[in-house]
Amino acid sequence: MSATAARPAVLAGYDVEALREEFPVLATRPYGKPLVYFDNAATTQKPRAVLDRLARFYAHEYAAIHRGVHLLSAQATVAYEGAREAARRFLNAARLTEVVFVRGATEGINLVAASFARPRLAPGDEILITALEHHSNIVPWQAVCAERGAKLVVAPIDDRGAVILEEFERRLGPHTKLAAVTHVSNALGTINPVAEMIRLAHAAGVPVLVDGAQAAPRLTVDVQALGCDFYVFSGHKTYGPTGIGVLWGRQELLAEMPPYQTGGGMIRAVTFEETLYDAPPARFEAGTPPVAEAIGLGVALGYLERVGLDAIAAWEDELLALATAAVAEVPGLRILGTAPAKAGVLSFVMAGVHPHDIGTILDHEGVAVRAGHHCAQPVMDRFGVPATVRASFGLYNTPAEVETLVRGLARVRHLFPA
Ligand code: PLP
Repeated sequence: MSATAARPAVLAGYDVEALREEFPVLATRPYGKPLVYFDNAATTQKPRAVLDRLARFYAHEYAAIHRGVHLLSAQATVAYEGAREAARRFLNAARLTEVVFVRGATEGINLVAASFARPRLAPGDEILITALEHHSNIVPWQAVCAERGAKLVVAPIDDRGAVILEEFERRLGPHTKLAAVTHVSNALGTINPVAEMIRLAHAAGVPVLVDGAQAAPRLTVDVQALGCDFYVFSGHKTYGPTGIGVLWGRQELLAEMPPYQTGGGMIRAVTFEETLYDAPPARFEAGTPPVAEAIGLGVALGYLERVGLDAIAAWEDELLALATAAVAEVPGLRILGTAPAKAGVLSFVMAGVHPHDIGTILDHEGVAVRAGHHCAQPVMDRFGVPATVRASFGLYNTPAEVETLVRGLARVRHLFPA
């Protein structure tokens, strides 16, 4: 069956061609072939709304914020704080002061590790993660545990790449000081039942950080409905700029946390004897902030809301279903990650071909995929492979592009017979 046949009625109104027009990079022709950009889990392309806003800000509105007495500074401050409101709305957070701008998910997690976990950890305490995590949601916890004599505990996943909930629950004990779980796995696409995991953790008195780096671009996130304590995501994966991301934290927790970095912009008063720190979020935004990046992120989040996260999720589901069925026909191809709930990420290996060779051959067909361990080496170890090929879908991808991928894989098989 053609991958373009039988579109579900629910997606009849999803005008992917109109959306594609908004992403100038999609007109690029690598090696003279139309670009098929399937590396969206690594980073997403930027719509014209974001590009134009960045250009306008730098060309006509650029200034430092918060302390300026001149008009440009006042206007830039309003735009920056407007971006904070866009992030609050995007996450359905109760308060603006719960939204901290950081460099990305990685910095958000490091901030919580340093300012929330470190002061609370004593020897013998534990931090619980899952076997699905990105290195960014492993290494900061490992480091702070090593420093404090605490232990990193890992809840296992099953052969489909789903967290085993009973095992997660069993590891929530009297010594657990925090659970840190990914919302969506970057390596396998598994969507974790985070609401249920948060419920289990809270029943054991354990606060929860959710790594939303892969969820924010493709799922509706409501931190109040989830009930988590911290949520992080990156701007560059949500069709926004690099160098900006969001840490959302519960007001009462942020209020108790010491600064992560110190310097200008995060103080009430400074003398050589002592410094009074500002309240959150300013307490966690030391130095000149990434003003343009934050404003660009605000535009990107508004763009996602206009397209509709539910529509994006449904579209990516459809692309994933088409791709999953089509690649299964390729001899010797094995999909890793077959959990019942999955986002638009397809990870696979092919017998007798290294993932890097697959990636290179696809690249020459214009198809950009990721080949490697995807910063999730423990996931690779769990499945006994050093690397996979990962095709990850975005809001602008099409069924025809899935067909191009499948043709490229047929060519790989032709060059490397099973
Ligand atoms: N968590 C997950 C699940 C990710 O996929 C990534 C990036 O790939 C990160 C965290 C880290 O995000 P960043 O590099 O933008 O800080």
